[in-house]
Amino acid sequence: MKSVDAHLADILAAVGPLPPRPLPLGSAHGCVLAADLHATTALPGFDNSAMDGYALHAADVAGAGPDHPVTLPVTGDIPAAPGTPAPVAPGTAVRIMTGAPLPPGADTVVQIEWTDGRMDQVTVARAPVPGQNIRRAGEDVAVGDLVLPAGRLLGAAQIGLLAALNVAAPTVHPRPRVAVLSTGSELVEVGGTLGPGQIVDSNSHAVAAAAREAGARVRRLAGVPDSPDAFAALLGDVRTDTDAVITTGGVSVGAFDVVKQVLAAAGTVRFERLAMRPGMPQGFGVLDGVPVFTLPGNPVSALVSFELFVRPALRRMRGLASVHRPTLVVTTAQPVRAAAGRRSYLRVRLADGGEGRPPVAHLTGGQGAHQLSALAAADALLIVPADGGEVPAGRELTALLLDDEVTAAGRLGGALPADRRRVEVGG
Ligand code: AMP
Ligand code: MG
Repeated sequence: MKSVDAHLADILAAVGPLPPRPLPLGSAHGCVLAADLHATTALPGFDNSAMDGYALHAADVAGAGPDHPVTLPVTGDIPAAPGTPAPVAPGTAVRIMTGAPLPPGADTVVQIEWTDGRMDQVTVARAPVPGQNIRRAGEDVAVGDLVLPAGRLLGAAQIGLLAALNVAAPTVHPRPRVAVLSTGSELVEVGGTLGPGQIVDSNSHAVAAAAREAGARVRRLAGVPDSPDAFAALLGDVRTDTDAVITTGGVSVGAFDVVKQVLAAAGTVRFERLAMRPGMPQGFGVLDGVPVFTLPGNPVSALVSFELFVRPALRRMRGLASVHRPTLVVTTAQPVRAAAGRRSYLRVRLADGGEGRPPVAHLTGGQGAHQLSALAAADALLIVPADGGEVPAGRELTALLLDDEVTAAGRLGGALPADRRRVEVGG
């Protein structure tokens, strides 16, 4: 049997970041920047007011105080609007709004709260520091600054910065377009009526959701019957405009294991037995340049295989440097055992282990490869080494966090010493 690590290494060696292209900001959100981005414009673009108030010469109000206020005539009004303001003469003030361009001559903005707020003349009761309340051109970003390096994941703040810099279409690695195909003549689309021997197709929904969570754009093609011709035809169709194909079912040793029948003949997809549970039968290959992941049909096997092999591959295709789920050292709440010769991934929920102690992993239910409810209740996969035999309660093992990284760190982080907080965030 092939090891999980060897299979993952083969997959990661066969996929790389998708070719970069410019995408509008809405589509670039969640993508990884493909090249260093240097500012071609400054931020702010011009000197402007940080407050609603009065632009003036600081020297004119240098002696102002509560007992000896200074009154200046107000000669204009500058809104945050297009246009070039007229200069402010010494001995006068101009009313100015936040974000409005600073008029020539003025060296200070006195906020409205320090004045009587009038429009014909203004009385200032407090002396400002020269330069007060002025946002200088380029103080945030100067022309030529490296603002976002290649490899940076574009979240809300990065998208905002790109827009502020007037970059409409940054060059990014696009999200992989993924086709999800479930196979099985027994499958019925969710919401349908089940006859004898039929089950609802859950894999295509689960794997599509997992692929979306991994950042892919997903097309779901459900319930391909176990007919080699039907499967081959559909596979031919989906490969256009697709960066990866994920199938479920039909890779075992059954009489109607159609995925294996069709793709083994093509010669580029290898079907192997992996030293893992769940998910022993697996296939992977690159067909006409498109990676094809053929996952086993049992619902827990399909999703665990997705976690271990497909998610890292999709993240690599997105150009992310960090492709793996975070892991934590945990202790077992009850005795557990690996399947003989196979590394097991048990469905567990982590509880706070108390101050300075690792979280405690509780099995969430039946560990059969068909028992989806235990996976749905889990927030981690407990990794039980193949050679571990029976592992008693209270033993330290590693768990793969399935939860949102930040949530898990927040929930369990307080109880963890810093060296156990091995949590990768973001890119
Ligand atoms: P297979 O790998 O095709 O032999 O399927 C293994 C087990 O998983 C069988 O019990 C199937 O009925 C079940 N199964 C296969 N595909 C799906 C699916 N899309 N949704 C739910 N269960 C499935
Ligand atoms: Mg089947």
